[in-house]
Amino acid sequence: MSGTLAPYAVSELNSRGRLHPEAPPSWRSEFQRDRDRIIHSSAFRRLEYKTQVFVNHEGDMFRTRLTHTLEVAQIARSVARALALNEDLVEAVTLAHDLGHTPFGHAGQHALNACMREFGGFEHNLHSLRVVDELEQRYPEFYGLNLLFETREGILKHCSREHAARLGALGRRFLERRQPSLEAQLANVADEIAYNHHDIDDGLRASLIPMRTLREVSLFQDIEDATRRRWPRLDAKRLRYTVIREMLNRFVQDLIESSRARIAAAAPPDVEAVRDADMPLIDFSAAMRVQHLALKRVLRVELYEHAQVHDMAQRSQRIVRALFETFMNEPAAWPSQLVPAVDATARAQQIADHVAGMTDRYAIAEYERIRRIATGS
Ligand code: MG
Repeated sequence: MSGTLAPYAVSELNSRGRLHPEAPPSWRSEFQRDRDRIIHSSAFRRLEYKTQVFVNHEGDMFRTRLTHTLEVAQIARSVARALALNEDLVEAVTLAHDLGHTPFGHAGQHALNACMREFGGFEHNLHSLRVVDELEQRYPEFYGLNLLFETREGILKHCSREHAARLGALGRRFLERRQPSLEAQLANVADEIAYNHHDIDDGLRASLIPMRTLREVSLFQDIEDATRRRWPRLDAKRLRYTVIREMLNRFVQDLIESSRARIAAAAPPDVEAVRDADMPLIDFSAAMRVQHLALKRVLRVELYEHAQVHDMAQRSQRIVRALFETFMNEPAAWPSQLVPAVDATARAQQIADHVAGMTDRYAIAEYERIRRIATGS
C-alpha cells in the first residue's frame, strides 16, 4: 500500500478481524494476505474459462470472467489510491467479487437459480461468499479462506433479507440498511465501470452493437466527434479504442472528484461513520450517472438481449438444467468426486456447488458425458 490511509479507510487497526484468529503475517499486511489467498484459490483459476458475456469458445479476443476481474481490480486500485483508501482491501475484494459465478455467465445463474427454487435458490453473489467461506478447502485449521470481515463484507454486494438474517454480523447491514466500507462501495462501482466499457468494446468488435445507438449517448458522441476532429484519418479499430479509453478516463475522473466532494461534505471521522451514512459516498456526479445509465441501457437492448447472445444463453441454460436434473435423478451419473448426502436439500446444494464451480468447457464435457449415459452409447 502506498501513502497514508484516510481516517475513514479500513485499516488493520479498525478491522473486525477473522472468524478464526490467526497469528499476524510477518512480511505483508493482513489485507495482502487475503488477496494472496484469493489468487491461490482454485475458484480464481477457473475464472479463466468462465463466460463474461461471450461464451469462452466464441473467440480468444473477448473478455473472460478472469480478464473482467483484472480490469475491475485495476480501476478500483487506481481510485483507492487517489482517495487514500485501503488499496490492498479493494484489490482483494475485486479479485474475489465474481468467484461465485456459474459457467455461461448470467444465463447459467438463471438456470441454476430455477433448478434450486425449491431448495432455497441460487444467487451468484451469495455464492462468491460461500466459495471463500466454505468451499475452498486448503487449510488444516478451517474451512474456506478465513478472510477478514471487511473483505467478506465487500464480496457480499447485495443480499435478500431472508439470507441476510442467516449471515450473522455480515448480514446485519442489509437488515439495518447501513452502508458497507468505502472500499466495498468502490469495488461495486468499479465493477460497473469495467463491464460497461469492456462490453461496449467486445460488442463493437463482434459487430453486435451498432455505432448509431452508441452515438445516442451524448458522452460517447462528444468524445467520438472530438477524436475524429483531432485524427480525421484514424482507422476504425484505433478510433474505437481511443473513444472507449477516453470515456473510461472521464468516468474514473468523475468518480474520484464527486466521491471526494461527498466525503468532504459528510466528513466521516471513521469507518463506522461511513457505515452510518444515509447514502453511499462513492458515486458519480448526477450528470455522469445519467451517461452511465444510458450506456447500460444500450448494452442491455443491443448486446445482452441480442438474438445471437440470447441463442447462446438458451443453449447454456439447457446444459445447466440437464446437468442439475441428471445428477439429482440418475444415481449412475452422480459426480464421482462427491459423497452424496442423504437429505435431498443437502444433495441439491452439493450439486449446485459442483455445477456453479464448473468452467464453460467442463460443463459442456460433463453434458456430453451424461448424454452418453442416457443414450447408452
Ligand atoms: Mg463483475
